[in-house]
Amino acid sequence: MSFELGLRCRDCGKTFPTQPLSGCDECFAPLEVYYDLEAIQRAVTREQLASRPFHMWRYREFLPVPTQGEAASHQRLPVGGTPLLKADRLAKVLGVRELYIKNDAVNFPTLSFKDRVVAIALSKAREFGYDTVACSSTGNLANAVAAQAAALGFRAFLFTPADLEPAKIANSLVYGAHLVKFSGNYDQVNRLSTEIAQKYPWGIVNVNLRPYYAEGSKTVGFEIAEQLNWSLPGTIVCPMAGGSLIGKIARAFDELRTLGWAAGETRICGAQATGCSPISTAVKNGTSDIEPQRPNTIARSLAIGNPADGFYASKLIRESGGYAEDVSDPEIVEAMQLLASTEGVFAETAGGVTLASARKLIDQGRVDRERPIVLVITGNGLKTLDAIVGAQTEAPVLAPRMRELEAWLDSQGVAAGEPVSASA
Ligand SMILES: *Cc1c(COP(=O)(O)O)cnc(C)c1O
Ligand SMILES: [Zn+2]
Repeated sequence: MSFELGLRCRDCGKTFPTQPLSGCDECFAPLEVYYDLEAIQRAVTREQLASRPFHMWRYREFLPVPTQGEAASHQRLPVGGTPLLKADRLAKVLGVRELYIKNDAVNFPTLSFKDRVVAIALSKAREFGYDTVACSSTGNLANAVAAQAAALGFRAFLFTPADLEPAKIANSLVYGAHLVKFSGNYDQVNRLSTEIAQKYPWGIVNVNLRPYYAEGSKTVGFEIAEQLNWSLPGTIVCPMAGGSLIGKIARAFDELRTLGWAAGETRICGAQATGCSPISTAVKNGTSDIEPQRPNTIARSLAIGNPADGFYASKLIRESGGYAEDVSDPEIVEAMQLLASTEGVFAETAGGVTLASARKLIDQGRVDRERPIVLVITGNGLKTLDAIVGAQTEAPVLAPRMRELEAWLDSQGVAAGEPVSASA
């Protein structure tokens, strides 16, 4: 059993039965899964939910997946359930009272929030009878599809721009997936995968499975609310590529408000790299009309020049009382180092975008400094090492002798002293 009722057009409201489908046949707008929220309310309580294992499937009633029985068992890779860290040291630097980091840099299995969306897409691919799955990707999505396809027994084809970070290529190939690089940007690769969907009987996670895929992102919002003891933060700052994640976090908060499970208004704020900022530009211009851009930034995971959900993201941000900012490549690198050195969290370039943008928004007075602020960290720094190696000071190489080490410590102004005794 499941609580999804089908697909609904985000513009004209036309409904469709559950099926692999990406857009409305009347107006070409994106489709969204809709649910019987009243039935969910009757079926499960917050307390029951809290007794389940802490991963994304604990919110299964709010997802387009089987909630019981044989069919529910194949989808149980323990994805999600990531930490919400109270970031007091970083809060002090930013001059805010209560700051949290939602750390999807440690998501299972491939260290980005894309593991969540793929978990739903592959559950749906199995339900629809596909044996092959595919995606167009800026890197993290390919990693997540490759790993989960391997674990669940699908064949996988991954299509990416040729200039991806080496770690993101290796982290797809290791799982035995078929990866093809194209000499173009993401938007060109994505257009191609829309054509592929019409010719091959594949479940393409961000084309014909996209409405289902997107639902996985809601679990970031559910987890944040639950980890804040079912209160909603004053502000959330979220990185944007296609603009889907930010909208689904807001949707999760809406569903919790509708059920009376959580209360409070949240300013939804978006973050982009200046080198690819179609959504933040629209927000600053007070419009939802997206002007496509040609991306040029080290934040490759966010380099989507023509974002599929950009219109809705801009609208949502402005209606929530939030705002959007964008930051330069040097600001991204500096923020990656700040996050790591204050909180011990090594995020990828997208995390640098989020923190540097949050800093600007706070300085501009667009964030309520007195209420809780959540930064959504979506990917792991080990996948974008090339972004920071040039920015770091070289580690010294010494001969393994005390004399050498002492000379170096002395040059750093570090003096020797009495060892601390255990029985003091
Ligand atoms: C894909 C991605 C995003 C943005 O996701 P959208 O839903 O396309 O806006 C953010 N951060 C990272 C690391 C990503 O890989
Ligand atoms: Zn429509």
